[in-house]
Parts: sequence; structure tokens; C-alpha cells
Amino acid sequence: MKPNWYGLSVDEALDTLNASHERGLSRTEVEARRPEAGWNELAFKKTPAWVRFLRQFKDSMVVILLVTAAITGLLTALGSHMLPDTLVILGVVLLNAILGFVQEGKAEGALDALRSLMVPECLVMRDGELQRLPSRELVPGDLVILEGGDKIPADIRFIDTSSAYVDESSLTGESVPVQKSTQPIAGDNLVPGDQRNMGFSGTYLTQGTARGLVVETGANTVFGRIADMVKSADAGQTPLQRKMSEFVHTLIKAILAVGAFNFVYGLYLGYDLGYSFLGAVSLVVAAIPEMLPALVTAILAVSGTLMAARKALIRKLPAAETLGATSVICSDKTGTLTENRMTVTRVQSGAQTLEVTGVGYDVSGHYARDGERLDAEGHPALRALLEVGAVCNNAHLKDEGGGVGDPTELALLVSAAKAGITKADAHRLAEIPFDSATKYMAVLTEHGGRRFIAVKGAPETVLGLCATQLDADGRTVSLDAASYLSAAQGFARQALRTLGFAFKEVDADHVDLLHADLSGLTFAGLQGMIDPPKPSAIEAVAKCKSAGIRTVMVTGDHPDTAQAVAAQLGITADQVITGAQLAEMSPESLRECVKAVSVFARVAPEHKKSIAEAFQANGLVVAMTGDGVNDAPALKQADIGVAMGIAGTEVAREAADMVLADDNFATIVNAVEEGRHAWTNLQKAILYTLPTNAAQALLIMGAIFMAAFVPVFAERFVLEPIQILWINLIDSVLLTLPLMMEPKEKDLLSRPPRDPGVRVIDALFLQRVVLMGLMIAVPSFLIYHHFGAAAVVEGELVDPLLLTQAQTAAFWVILMTQIGYLISARSLFDSAFRLDPLGNPWLLGGIGLSVLLHLMGTFVTPVADAFRLAAFPIEWWPLILATLLPSFLAIETDKLIRARLARR
Ligand code: ATP
Repeated sequence: MKPNWYGLSVDEALDTLNASHERGLSRTEVEARRPEAGWNELAFKKTPAWVRFLRQFKDSMVVILLVTAAITGLLTALGSHMLPDTLVILGVVLLNAILGFVQEGKAEGALDALRSLMVPECLVMRDGELQRLPSRELVPGDLVILEGGDKIPADIRFIDTSSAYVDESSLTGESVPVQKSTQPIAGDNLVPGDQRNMGFSGTYLTQGTARGLVVETGANTVFGRIADMVKSADAGQTPLQRKMSEFVHTLIKAILAVGAFNFVYGLYLGYDLGYSFLGAVSLVVAAIPEMLPALVTAILAVSGTLMAARKALIRKLPAAETLGATSVICSDKTGTLTENRMTVTRVQSGAQTLEVTGVGYDVSGHYARDGERLDAEGHPALRALLEVGAVCNNAHLKDEGGGVGDPTELALLVSAAKAGITKADAHRLAEIPFDSATKYMAVLTEHGGRRFIAVKGAPETVLGLCATQLDADGRTVSLDAASYLSAAQGFARQALRTLGFAFKEVDADHVDLLHADLSGLTFAGLQGMIDPPKPSAIEAVAKCKSAGIRTVMVTGDHPDTAQAVAAQLGITADQVITGAQLAEMSPESLRECVKAVSVFARVAPEHKKSIAEAFQANGLVVAMTGDGVNDAPALKQADIGVAMGIAGTEVAREAADMVLADDNFATIVNAVEEGRHAWTNLQKAILYTLPTNAAQALLIMGAIFMAAFVPVFAERFVLEPIQILWINLIDSVLLTLPLMMEPKEKDLLSRPPRDPGVRVIDALFLQRVVLMGLMIAVPSFLIYHHFGAAAVVEGELVDPLLLTQAQTAAFWVILMTQIGYLISARSLFDSAFRLDPLGNPWLLGGIGLSVLLHLMGTFVTPVADAFRLAAFPIEWWPLILATLLPSFLAIETDKLIRARLARR
């Protein structure tokens, strides 16, 4: 029987699980618990391979073929000679199912790999050491440490909390975060929402910090027991996938109607029932672009893998498609555009501006005034300023160099250490964590028996809480906010990130910081730190410019700092709008404003959502970065929400479409390039598939039509129905799929972004359908007639073998014309002569395999017999091979003309 965890006191819970409050579990203890506890994950039931294989037969195309096989089988039983047709259709269906199965497996594999790149991690205390571990390794008794934005990795009993609020909406539907505490709660069978000292797997700590004792893991958690809530995050079709399915469905209806007409017309012309039926079916199968929806998925999955290799992890497949159309990237500044390696270089203490030497987290450096070294010991005001920075701080410097924690706070520890100040002798009693909406952090500390509130944050915010300031000798005098504000502005203009510091002494029994009066503080001064722009970001901003993408900086930092850093990065910085100004604007004026302004400063997270909306209202496709809990609404609003993989919170990652493994702006631009790549490959594949389908359908309809006038056509269709099935179901797959592996074109990032409103099926497409329909069908007709005409004399079939050979020749012509088209289809607008002929080995493989299969069909007797093919005289070959040229040249000429017109 499991205990009621919420009813136990902290010590009882620790005892029950044999765990230590300070050291957590030991490694050996974890190993001992593993066999019983298992892994902390929900085992997704994988669809078994045979089910996935059978699923291939659900496709409407396959159903049509299976029905056809049944009917031809029935006709065979009734005495028609259609057994080979039945067998071939079944064989083709099987082969198609295998190809579909393999292709689906590949796409699934790529998605699995993407998912596994995003294993959730958490901070755990083991053997007395803080470690970041994959959440699946937790066992009951483990001690997890959480802060605002973290996902709770298992069911836990809180054992320490500080202003800890948890968003339990995924579990309880309650949208307001609930405060958690550690007190035991009386009562039986409390619902999760009432268990105020418990945290449940899958919910989020939105604020504060906490420690929790893991009590249940994996399938035993509350979340694990509500199994159907666990849906994979990346379900959902992309707009293009949806459009494609709709398009194919409409097309199927139209094609079925044409097929029915063809059937009746075939009977009217005097073909027998079975043959007419098979003709109609092959028309239907030839015309339906059955591969398209699967192709879209496969290309997006491949694109996701390519993006992952470049450190952009796609969480939702539609993002791979949308990325290609991105026209604005709104990026945070700190850590994304800049290094986030801060060094305090200037401080303002009263009327004095001091320089600080040294770089990075190396504590060797000193203070100087006008170039002259200054001993901090003799400057009480400077010491007070640095002390506030050191105690109102959650970072840690390591003895061996470097440190853990927020770089801004690390920089403050370093600046304090340069004056010999550490936070060691202060004892923290309570904390109001930093929040980018309030822009300050406060702590209550005890220092030599006295209690202080210490606050740091944006200068104007902290100054607003102060009544007095320290003078150079450390005496309290009345506040001169104006001169501090102008000093802060001076720092900001030098691109320095600037913080203000203040403190006040409180009663010795004061414990409640949350409700403390945070006014009447004494201002201690300013510290300004540099945070250099990332060289890769400068490059990426330039790339965006040439790619027609606007880079917009949206930062919580001071307007002047933002402007100075933006200018260093190459972002248009002549106008800056602040969050306060933005809050005053109507949606219409904001919409006008974003047309010209590219730097937004002192914005709170809620403003980011309005900024995204304003861009979208102007018809732009917006990518927006974010890392905090409050950024989630903006990430959801943007077309592409981008979360930081390193500095971001789990909440932001979960809300995002894409996660940057390296928190780097340049990675977004790389992902956009891959998105464009995916889109062009899609266009190529679609622009190849649909015209070839149309051509095959045209071929059959044309043949039936001509049957009324030309004797060889009255005798047989140009191609036997089963030959059409071969071409449509085998060649098309082998020749279309490789197009999705087509390498990137070099100038992808020097073109303007795709208009999100453009249709895939546009004028270019219609024109290519007509052109290719003719280029494939006409040579086939001509070759069939040229070689086969002699087989029919005065309406009588005198040489059936010759007619079969002529059909075989036409069968080859289709392959040749399609190969000609394919070579040219590798680029939509560029000449094929400018492409690397060996650039896409898959394509060469596909062509090679198709040719090999055609040779087999022609020369291996049993296969040839089954498909009604026959080897033809060797002197026919040159003419047949030459039919590759017209389709190739037609498209190349079309591209040339387009390029000429465009230049004009
Ligand atoms: P971005 O939004 O581009 O990441 P940012 O990091 O400057 O920029 P915020 O993190 O919202 O944005 O910070 C806003 C302001 O709050 C900073 O300019 C600074 O003055 C102050 N600030 C930043 N970090 C802290 C902190 N840890 N404690 C107290 N104040 C801070």
C-alpha cells in the first residue's frame, strides 16, 4: 500500500523513501532501486511493423487496384484470359506497399531521431553533488531542484519551496498557477489540485524555486495513469499537406468520372468487357498523383533531419515548411545576438565614474579613476554597491575558473571579487526572483546579525524604489535620480547593459519579503557591463538582408543599449520603440510602426505577442525567439516560435515550433535556408509528378480517341493497361523520390522570401502539365505508329508480334521522355547544364534501376510475357533513345525564355 504522500511531513516522507535531505541518493542506491522502479518515462506503444505494413493497403489507390484484381480474377474464372493481369496487379500492389512501408519507416525514423535529440533533463542532487541528468533516470527517493520555467519531471513531494508557483492547467484545467508549500495536508483521496505540497509530472514551476522528493515515476505518476492525455507534440498536418490531400481527393473524383466514361466508350468501340475495364482502371491509376501527400511528409521529415544537423530542432513538422516563407525574425538580444559573456567595465558610484579592468570571468582586475588605480578598501560607497551585487545573486564562481548561473550575475560576482568581496558571509532568508516583466530581483539577507533587503534591476525601476542614495563616503543623502538616469543613459550609449543597486536595513525579526515594503531604499549605484555581439550573428544579419528577411531586435534592455548593439550588428537602428510607448499604441498604429522600426527595447514578454501580431497583420511570416515562461504566448502567436535550447525554460521549449540547440541567431537563419531548400525540393517533386501523371492519362485517352480513326490504335491501346500500371507505380516512384534528396541550390539565401499566399499549382505548373503531356504522349504515339503500322493491313491484324514490339518501343519511349524531363526538373529555373551532374547520386540510382527493370521486362521472357512485352530489333534503339531529347530540351528552352523575360 502506497502512503498518502501529501499527508506525511517532510521528514516522514524522507524516511519512508530512505532519502537524505542534503545529499540525495547515492549512485549505488539508485542502481539498487532501478530494477523495481524502471525508467521514468511513458513507454509509447510502437505500432508493430506488420500493422504499419497492412496500413499501406488502406490507401484509396490500392483499394481501386485490389478491386480491379478481384474483377479481373472473376473474369478469368468466367473464361477470359486475364490471369496474368490479375497476378501483375497483385504484384504491383505488393511492391507499392513495400515501397510505401520503407518510405514511411524512413520518415518515422527521422522523426524519432529528432524527438530523441530533445530528451528532457533536470537538476538532481546525488551523492551530495548537483547534476544535470536526463529525466528518465529518476527513481523514487531522488532529490530534484527546480526553478521558474522548469517542467516537473516526476511526481514529487515538495520539501523546500520559495515563492513556488506551479501551472497545473494540463492536469486540472485550472489556468491560474497555484502556490506550493511543504506543510502536510490532512484528508483522504484529495484530488491533485488540492495536494498543495505535491508537484505532478508534466506540470510547470512558473515562478520561484523548489526542491522535491521524487515519489512516483513513469507510468505510476498521475499523468502516466491518464494515458490518453499523452499525445505526441508534433501531430497535425502542414497547410501544404492539407492542401495536397484536398487536391488529390478532388482530383480522384474527377478522374473516376473520366475513367467511367472511358470504360463505356471502350465497350462502344468494341473492346471486350475485361479489356475496357482494365483500360479504364489504368487510366484512373495513371492520372491520380497518389504519391503526393506522402511525398510532402517525407520531404519535410528529411528537411527536419537536415535542420537538426545544423542545430535547429524542429518540434512540429509544419514548421519545416513555414520556415521557408519567413520574412521577419524577431530576436532577443542577450545570448542570441550577443555572446552573453558579460564583463562589468564601468561603475557609477555617486558622482564618480570608475573603470574596471580585466575580461571575462577572470577575477584579476582592478578599479581605476581616470586611468589611475584605486583601492576599493577606502571607498565605502563602492563597496556597498558591489556587496549588493554579490548578495542579490544566484550565480556561483568556481575555484577552478568560470562559473554557473546567469552571466549577468556572474559578471557581478566577478566585479565584486575584484574588490575582494564575496557573498560567503551573508545568509539568504528569502528571495523575489528576477522576472523580465518586473525587471528586478530582491533578497532578504542576514549579515553580522543585521537584516537587509537588497535589490538589483533595471536602473529606472530600482531608482523608483529609492528615497536616498549613498555619497562617496558612504553617507546616506537625498536621492538625485536625474543624475543617475543620465549616467545610466551614458552607459547605455556605450552599448553597456546597465543595472542599478539598492538596499535597506529592516528589523531583525523581519522574514516576509514578498509582502515587505520595497520602497524607501537607498540607491548604491550602477554597474555597466559589455556583452559583445556574436560574430556569427553579425554575419547572419547580413545574410538575412540579402535574403529579404528583416531582423528585428526585441529586448528587455535599455533603449540606448539596444540601439548601440543593434548598430554593431547591422540592424537598422535609427528608431527605437520602448515597451511603454508600445503599450500606448492602438493595434493600427502599432501595425504602421512595425513597418519602419526594427528595435524594440524595455519590452515585457506580453508586448512580444502584440509585436508578432502587428507583423502578421502586415502579411509577414514571423519567427520569434523566447526563453522565459512569459514568452510562451508570443511563441505560440508567431508563425515560428523559436525557443532557446540552453538558456530557455522547458515551458518556452514546449510552446515553440523550433528549438535552437546552441541559442544562436545564426542557427535560425540556417534553418530558414533549409526551409527554403525543402520548399524548392517540394516544388520540384510536385512539378515533376503531376505533369507525368497527366501525360500518362493523356496517352490512354488519346489512344482511345484515335482508335476511331487510325487502325493500329483500334487494334490495341498504345500501351497495355498493365504496362501503364508498371510505369505509374514503379518508374514514378523510382524517378520522383530521388528529387527530394536534391542538394541545396547555392543562391537560396539571395532570393526574396516566398509569398505565403502563392499557390503551388499556378500558371507555371499548368503550362508544364501541357508541355510535358505533349512531350511524353506525342513521341509515344509516333513511335508506336511508326514501328507498328505495318502490323495491320486493311483493318486486319497480320503481325501480332510486331504490334507487341511497337508497344514495347512505346513503353521505352515513356521511360526516356520521363528521364529527359527529370534531368531538367532538378532545377526549376536554372539550366540543367549548370548543375553538378553527379550532385544527386540518388537520382542516378533511380534512373539506373528503372532502366534495369525495363531491360528485365523486355529481355527476360517470363517477365516480358506477363507484361505483354517483346524484344524488338536492335536498329530501333537509336530512335527510341533519342526521344529523351525533346522533353529535356523543351523544358530547358522554357527556362531560357523565362530567364530572358525576367531580365527584361
Ligand atoms: P533580451 O530580452 O534580449 O534577452 P535582456 O536580457 O536585457 O534582453 P531581460 O532579461 O528582460 O532582457 O532584462 C531586462 C533588464 O533587467 C536588463 O536590462 C537589466 O537591467 C535587468 N536584469 C537582467 N538580468 C537581471 C537579473 N538577473 N537581476 C536583476 N536585474 C536583471
